[in-house]
Amino acid sequence: MKTVLVLGSGLAGLTTAVHLSEKGFKVTILEKRPFAGGRTYSFTRDFWPEKIDNGPHVMLGCYSALLELLDLVGSVHLLDPQLKMNIKYLFPGAKSTSLSASGLPAPFHFLSGLVRFSAFNWRQKWNLAKAFFIIAFMSEHDSLDELTAIEWLNKNSQDEHSVQLFWRPMVLATLNEEPENVSFLQLFRVLKLGFLKGKNASRMILIPRGLTETLIEPVIHWLEKRSCRLLYNHRVHEIKFDEGCNKITVETNKGLFKEFDYWVSALPFNQIRPLLNNSKIKFKNVLKIENFFGNAILNLHFWYPERLISESFASLHEVQSQWLFVNQRCQNLIHHTLVISSADQLLEQQSKDQLSRILLEELKLIFSEFDPDKIKKYYLVVENNATLVCSPNVEKLRPKPGEIFDRFYIAGDWTQTGLPPTMESAVRSGKMVAEDIEKRLYANLQGIV
Ligand SMILES: Cc1cc2nc3c(=O)[nH]c(=O)nc-3n(C[C@H](O)[C@H](O)[C@H](O)COP(=O)(O)OP(=O)(O)OC[C@H]3O[C@@H](n4cnc5c(N)ncnc54)[C@H](O)[C@@H]3O)c2cc1C
Repeated sequence: MKTVLVLGSGLAGLTTAVHLSEKGFKVTILEKRPFAGGRTYSFTRDFWPEKIDNGPHVMLGCYSALLELLDLVGSVHLLDPQLKMNIKYLFPGAKSTSLSASGLPAPFHFLSGLVRFSAFNWRQKWNLAKAFFIIAFMSEHDSLDELTAIEWLNKNSQDEHSVQLFWRPMVLATLNEEPENVSFLQLFRVLKLGFLKGKNASRMILIPRGLTETLIEPVIHWLEKRSCRLLYNHRVHEIKFDEGCNKITVETNKGLFKEFDYWVSALPFNQIRPLLNNSKIKFKNVLKIENFFGNAILNLHFWYPERLISESFASLHEVQSQWLFVNQRCQNLIHHTLVISSADQLLEQQSKDQLSRILLEELKLIFSEFDPDKIKKYYLVVENNATLVCSPNVEKLRPKPGEIFDRFYIAGDWTQTGLPPTMESAVRSGKMVAEDIEKRLYANLQGIV
């Protein structure tokens, strides 16, 4: 039986393990934390009986690799898919509008919703529709990565109002960065795969039972039944290669790991970098990631006696918070979460406590009845390096998921999967690596390699 050592138990590492275990490989996973899930996890606190997600994660209907994984491990029924895309927009002064898709074929499903979108005048609607049509007939090519999203939007007649109300929130939510800093290529992919592929692809899928219960535990149970070993509290300190890259040793706080047939790093870009730096081999020539950086996502959880919106989530405007999610009710309190993407700058300007209070106070602008004194508890979760920032020209530096040295593979949301760094990208990278390893094994058996 061939053995594989996987580093990291986020979605990328777990997916690699699932696909390889399914093919009969014996998989061991090393995870530095006492729990699996990486950036998708839930935790408990003594003031609340339910699990709390680090931050709301939204899937899209086009997340085929993640849906396939959840189907395999039996948790796809725990998801809550919207029937069609529907986003409520809330503004100060209790003003609101909605953007919803219709049942028409793409891109008309979205454009018919746009016609009814009361926040835009006819010229803005026309220009937005034109931008969607241009993208619908464009194919992906390298030069799309040379522009920022805002440069493309400005060139394509998107005025300030359309950018503020429509494009900026979309870019922040999907790419965790401002349109001024992110590559247009990534926005193009979001639109092409998410919005222009049909009403099923663009609908949002919520995870109401929580990230760990829905995405992680079922995968772990599935793996345990296939004798996969998941070793928690195993922090990798160094990955050592001998000069010829023939022998690999992984050094952890619990000892050395050697003698595996295949090795997979499913670590984030900022974690793999220092591990490889100590090695004799010139990694800079293989992984050109020294200038990669991530951006934070801030999630302010708060517990309030009344439900602030009837929907599960809403897009907030003219305040600093970008989204409001409503989670469970328990003990006459309702768990809400405010989300801010691309939060690095905001976090530099004030203390976390000051910021939390400001964000909660601001809710009075949107909900006239809202009384911050009725908040029973609030709790801020900041995820630094939540995702890789895909600025222009970063795409070509993202390594392809797969073998970078003899029998040593890399996976992770930040690798070049054809997608922006998301859960779907993580799962897709894990699947691609598992397929590569399998192919390599067959090639070996047939004496090709
Ligand atoms: C707050 C937040 C909200 C998000 N919202 C969305 C969303 O709505 N939709 C979406 O698609 N994506 C979203 N994302 C992105 C998504 O969570 C990630 O793209 C995905 O989870 C990355 O998975 P991964 O397996 O590549 O990496 P990770 O999940 O980071 O997994 C890496 C694993 O490696 C472990 N590790 C690190 N260093 C070591 C070491 N030295 N030794 C051993 N183990 C180590 C880590 O503990 C971790 O378990 C969000 C991310 C955050 C943080």
